[in-house]
Amino acid sequence: MRVEQNRNVIIQRQKNMSKLNSLKELYVEELRDLYNAENQLLKALPKMAKAASSEELKDAIESHLEETQTHVNRLEQIFEELDEDPKGKTCKAMKGLIEEGQELAKQKGKKSVLDAGIISSAQKVEHYEIAGYGCVRTYANLLGFQEAATLLQSTLEEEAETDKKLTQLAESIINAQAAEAEEEEVEVK
Ligand code: FE
Ligand code: FE
Repeated sequence: MRVEQNRNVIIQRQKNMSKLNSLKELYVEELRDLYNAENQLLKALPKMAKAASSEELKDAIESHLEETQTHVNRLEQIFEELDEDPKGKTCKAMKGLIEEGQELAKQKGKKSVLDAGIISSAQKVEHYEIAGYGCVRTYANLLGFQEAATLLQSTLEEEAETDKKLTQLAESIINAQAAEAEEEEVEVK
């Protein structure tokens, strides 16, 4: 029984560590990483939205959840064209980023400060995705996969747009917080 289990573990590892002899193999590997990352986000974003206090932040996260479903669909379309399986990889980086975000959201504290922390976690996620999509978009171009390159570019732009929106939200939340703090100071006097 145990031998059988070990054998399965080894087979699983070999599957996860496919050989990388060509740019196309690297392209598929990185697409699988992103596919897994996006699917992890589909589960994590609703929890993040729930943890947020600001209505604007909740809305921003929820609308990015819809976009994330589109990102998954685009990747599936690309895999179909490639005749490859999108599954088989775990994005450890995304797992870590999500874990850190959840850890932060569980902490107690002032709502606006926690919201600023949630935004920071979300922006780290966006930056990871921006880096990943930038790479695969470039590979798709180099490999002559024009349609895939266009799809990946669309996702890349949506990730960048989300990042920008989060920066604006952070500024408004932090500004409101600063204004509040000033008012408190006046009260103390
Ligand atoms: Fe995405
Ligand atoms: Fe994203």
